[in-house]
Amino acid sequence: MELSADFYSNLTRLAQDGRHDLACGTCGEGRRKLPSGQWLYPAVMPDGRTQWMLKVLMSNACVNRCGYCAFGAHGTTEPARLAPDDLALFFSLLMKERKVGALFLSSAICDRPIRVMDDMLKTALLVRRKYRFRGYLHLKLLPGIGSDQILAAMQLADRVSVNLEAVSPERLQVIAPEKSFDDDLLSLLRQVKTIGEKQDVACRGATTQIVVGPSGESDREIVGFMNRCYSELDLKRVYYSAHTPIPGTPMADLTPTPLWREHRLYQSDWLLRQYGFSADEIPTDEHGSLSRDADPKLMWARLHPEYFPLEINDAPLESLMRVPGIGPRAALRIVNTRRSQPLREPRDLSAFHIPVRRAGPWLLFSGQRRMRTQSQLQFEFSPGA
Ligand code: SF4
Repeated sequence: MELSADFYSNLTRLAQDGRHDLACGTCGEGRRKLPSGQWLYPAVMPDGRTQWMLKVLMSNACVNRCGYCAFGAHGTTEPARLAPDDLALFFSLLMKERKVGALFLSSAICDRPIRVMDDMLKTALLVRRKYRFRGYLHLKLLPGIGSDQILAAMQLADRVSVNLEAVSPERLQVIAPEKSFDDDLLSLLRQVKTIGEKQDVACRGATTQIVVGPSGESDREIVGFMNRCYSELDLKRVYYSAHTPIPGTPMADLTPTPLWREHRLYQSDWLLRQYGFSADEIPTDEHGSLSRDADPKLMWARLHPEYFPLEINDAPLESLMRVPGIGPRAALRIVNTRRSQPLREPRDLSAFHIPVRRAGPWLLFSGQRRMRTQSQLQFEFSPGA
């Protein structure tokens, strides 16, 4: 069976449109262009390996009008749609040539959500059963689909995602008035959690994405909500996307959200997931904003002089991870090494790939403080609520 020229032009457009979806850990760096015109992206798999991923939408013409989105009914993109048989065949050809190891399928809502989701499920089924693809498969779940479709998606995919886009019903109303935060989105994630707990499915959890800025939320609200995503909904990752206004959309005139804000949110997210911080400990100012000038871990350290300096040769693992510049892996290596070989001075830190000037001032080495920086003495930041 041959694929038509129309298929390739639609695929190129839809793969281009699909790159905006972040909920799968891909990055554009090192992306690879196929001779047929589509890009493959390097994606980090749940096991930490990197695979080339085809990321594509089944359709880009949506009946909804989310204010920030290029695919809404305001008509800023040329509509295109892919048939499941064609897309599955194309993917199988890439597999045969060993060009791809992962597939991400999403779609705008161009029809009844149940029908659009059926197309995605049909593609996934063909790829898995007919073409025997055993690699990573990610499926987007659309608001309005049935519980049988959620289960089918979780039987086929390694991961599913639901883009919440905002942090509360009120915030979602501002940017996506046709969607219900609780009934359409949160309820999907709750069902994913319940199915994962009760049934033997391939899927190992869900991810989500939040658009930062256009609904007017503060960083404090986002940090509180990210905590809820991990503790209540058991999500594997939350992705943050700084809003870049798209010409022709209802939110085209908004000021773009600065990228440093997205970066600070990712740092806060790491502190919650990997460093044992609670949401209340992430420092924000009186407006609920993260600092532009310093990362949240450094800000926390500056706000807690009572915690420092820490004796590097006997501080507990969890305390070492609070030192600016020391991550979980380095902290563990220090704890394992110092039993037989105590650290004597700041330059010993470099053996653990720790930046000496960043971490040294917060530490004692066998009772001696060897470094102090001006930044520990000068600090202007008022913590929020
Ligand atoms: S439902 Fe999704 S694709 Fe449709 S307009 Fe909203 S964000 Fe865009």
